Amino acid sequence: MKKIRLLAGLMLAAAMTLASACGAAEKEPLRLGLLAMNTYMEIRAYEADDTLMSRVKEQIALLESQMSVTDDQSEIYRLNAEGSALLSRDAQAVLEAALELCRKTEGALDISVYPIVREWGFTTGQYSVPDDSRLELLLENVDYSRVEISGNHAVVPQGMMVDLGSVAKGYTGDQIAKILAGGGVDSALINLGGNVQAVGARPDGSPWRIGVKSPMDEGNIGVLSVEDKAVVTSAGYERYFQDEDGNIYWHIIDPKTGRPAQSGLSSVTVIADQGLYCDGLSTALFVMGKEDALDFWRQYGDFEAILVTQQGEVFVTEGVEKSFVPEGDIEVNVVRRGTA
Ligand code: AMP
Ligand code: MG
Repeated sequence: MKKIRLLAGLMLAAAMTLASACGAAEKEPLRLGLLAMNTYMEIRAYEADDTLMSRVKEQIALLESQMSVTDDQSEIYRLNAEGSALLSRDAQAVLEAALELCRKTEGALDISVYPIVREWGFTTGQYSVPDDSRLELLLENVDYSRVEISGNHAVVPQGMMVDLGSVAKGYTGDQIAKILAGGGVDSALINLGGNVQAVGARPDGSPWRIGVKSPMDEGNIGVLSVEDKAVVTSAGYERYFQDEDGNIYWHIIDPKTGRPAQSGLSSVTVIADQGLYCDGLSTALFVMGKEDALDFWRQYGDFEAILVTQQGEVFVTEGVEKSFVPEGDIEVNVVRRGTA
């Protein structure tokens, strides 16, 4: 295998910026900022107290310790190392939901692509371009349908490894929103490095405003107004490396080829009620490409999406037409259910 020099550093950018500033009359929220799940997380909650924020912090640490694919104490690590493991309630719920999404997206999402993600170096930072023969060999063990889960007992066949990285932050957002709402908070914004979850509206009753980052430059393509929704972006720019010839390789892998998905898209944002659903779908739609992603949207209709192509064209599904305001002179193509 050819080792290559890393020309451009890993860019771990939060896909979203929070576009709203606190109004003068607004109360100050409690804020929690921490590094977890390989990303910077920031939580802003109004009418929260320190005990509630401590519970949020503990929950994040707990979920990471159960689902991390690199921590040798985690349940998923043990499942991969030993081929079988008893899972806690959360890890079981996430594994079941992830497998359901693998089926629903017909393998565009495939949690068993992990050995290939690792081979490219995306989990270790030791980037390299694998040989074709190596990829072919690893692809033989990529098939989510061979993962078995019965109650809390999960089994993966010899040679297979799974990774919940494509959905874990989404689930974490759902759990944090639940803890905050259960503790009486009705206004909060949870930003888990590109996975945003809005609890209610802003304290003044206006919607939360979330900047959707441009894949082309440092700015935003626009601002989305939401209440009680998850907004999750998958994009090449979140994690990538460049080889000596200037080729860029990003972390979203097409499970059919074992190579970074070249679907013509450069970012996918999914908006729906549930963070886990948004997280899994944003990864899967990125792999599918624009046409298949929009067909999927027409078929299921329980989410909205903002797609940016590698040419910089922006497509938004009709359900967010009114809540998405493009930046500057960015042109938006609205996709309607009735049109192909
Ligand atoms: P996300 O940032 O949610 O789009 O998830 C991308 C992460 O999931 C990558 O960093 C990999 O660890 C893993 N991954 C990459 N491609 C896939 C895929 N097709 N299916 C499932 N997980 C993937
Ligand atoms: Mg995802």
